[in-house]
Amino acid sequence: MSRSFDVVVIGAGPAGYIAAIRAAQHGKRVACIDEWQNRDGKYAFGGTCLNAGCIPSKALLESSELYHRAGHEFGKHGIDIDGVEMNIAAMQKRRAGIVRQLTGGIAGLFKAAGVEGLVGHGKLLKGKQVEFTPVKGDQEIISAKHVILASGSEPIELPIAKFDGDKIIDSWDTLELEAVPETLGVVGAGVIGLELGSVWARLGAKVTILEAMDDFLFMADRDVAKVAAAEFRKQDLDIRLGAMVKNATAGESGVAVEYEDKNGTQTLEVEKLVVAVGRRPVTRELFADDAGIQLDERGFIVVDDECRTRVKGVYAIGDCVRGPMLAHKSSEEGVMVADLIAGEIAEMNYDVIPSVLYTNPEIAWTGKTEAEVKESGRAYKTGQFPFMASGRAKAMEQTSGFVKIIASKDDDEVLGVHIVGPMAGELISEAVLALEFSASTEDIQRTIHAHPSLAEAVHEAALAVDGKALNFPNR
Ligand code: FAD
Ligand code: NAD
Repeated sequence: MSRSFDVVVIGAGPAGYIAAIRAAQHGKRVACIDEWQNRDGKYAFGGTCLNAGCIPSKALLESSELYHRAGHEFGKHGIDIDGVEMNIAAMQKRRAGIVRQLTGGIAGLFKAAGVEGLVGHGKLLKGKQVEFTPVKGDQEIISAKHVILASGSEPIELPIAKFDGDKIIDSWDTLELEAVPETLGVVGAGVIGLELGSVWARLGAKVTILEAMDDFLFMADRDVAKVAAAEFRKQDLDIRLGAMVKNATAGESGVAVEYEDKNGTQTLEVEKLVVAVGRRPVTRELFADDAGIQLDERGFIVVDDECRTRVKGVYAIGDCVRGPMLAHKSSEEGVMVADLIAGEIAEMNYDVIPSVLYTNPEIAWTGKTEAEVKESGRAYKTGQFPFMASGRAKAMEQTSGFVKIIASKDDDEVLGVHIVGPMAGELISEAVLALEFSASTEDIQRTIHAHPSLAEAVHEAALAVDGKALNFPNR
């Protein structure tokens, strides 16, 4: 007799595993199927985020940052250390250990919540049946009242620079390099290019990033992008804008790259080339032709605002559907869908999803950029406060950047918050909450912020919106 569940989730990344746990919290009988296999041959839950994305990249960003600061900043604190050396094997062992602990933790969470974790491939058939092909054992057909597709995404491959796992590599390969390349080329100055470019530049690689667009960080507020570009250049990240890669040929010693910019055809020789030009949804063998699932022209599963597909009782969430490819967006969709399945009212506020780049300085924002507000025609006001004027930032030796708040002129509502500077990824949470509650700058102005804290910069930026900053001259 075939097994049946209230909810079957295909994919155990941050979208799927969170949906599974939440559904189990609602008392549903849940199975979550995943086939992720790490390079040591072991299967693991957690998807891209835990195995080859958010978590390992942040582990390496932390290690490389500490190494860089030890060499460049500790002297200012009076800490004299000569000959600081990076042990790449130890750094990578730590990264792998963190990944192992966290992915193993999901198996534990499944057990505690009563979710049946199934290792293997899942495919949606007609009538909410799921074909499960385990890595060991026989294929079975599982029946479900509800199915959640959470199959995630994978790196886009450029036909002119195909991945070979050695010289022309993707983000996962880049996270697992065993030695610092002398030269590293990166195609794409997006989030991955900047984060992973920073890691290997701090460790000593000469990093060149080729970006097709003329504008740096086109999705960020222009003031933020300007400061960030200047800071990255100080860190010897050679970012070349308006550089469209035309060809890349891997040879014995490295990769010969040909790109075009406003001056014509250029060439670049690098030991390794990372291609980080975006990700695309994974839908291979995910559903049968007659299952009723529709893809859009870019390959994403078509869903409505509540992540419902065209098939009643079948949902899709995370990177395989429209919207930003972010772990926190994916997880929140998982929560929403599980709540909807349980008959609760649930919704996502797609307008206030925070974006964070874990570079140094960090970059974070939520809500609208100044250009977007301007385009909307709404009258607005802005306030900025530089970390240079923050006591805590000075004590941390991290004074680059600022907090910028954009608010509506008529009712003072906060429309966007943009931060470039220390701990921007942590500071942005206050801004997200403010936008979620439709707060005014006055709400932030009247909120007591601890002293000395970086969060005071958010407070002062809110004051600056009305020309009332206290620790920096108002414009
Ligand atoms: P995934 O995490 O991709 O998980 C999908 C899972 O489904 C996988 O385990 C896959 O094996 C499984 N699967 C697919 N099809 C099937 C099938 N048919 N049967 C069984 N299993 C299947 N986002 C952030 O918010 N913050 C960050 O700091 C961040 N850093 C990143 C750094 C890097 C280098 C990369 C590559 C990404 C980063 N991201 C970050 C993006 C983040 O990883 C994704 O947005 C997130 O993982 C999407 O979650 P998901 O559950 O939709 O998909
Ligand atoms: P991205 O979309 O952030 O950036 C890709 C960049 O490549 C763009 O700037 C694009 O203009 C450029 N590009 C495209 N084709 C090119 C070409 N032929 N030549 C030169 N440049 C080219 O994509 P990504 O950096 O690969 O990241 C993928 C996804 O992963 C992102 O959507 C992001 O949300 C997610 N991610 C998030 C984080 C984070 O939240 N901190 C970190 C890493 C990844």
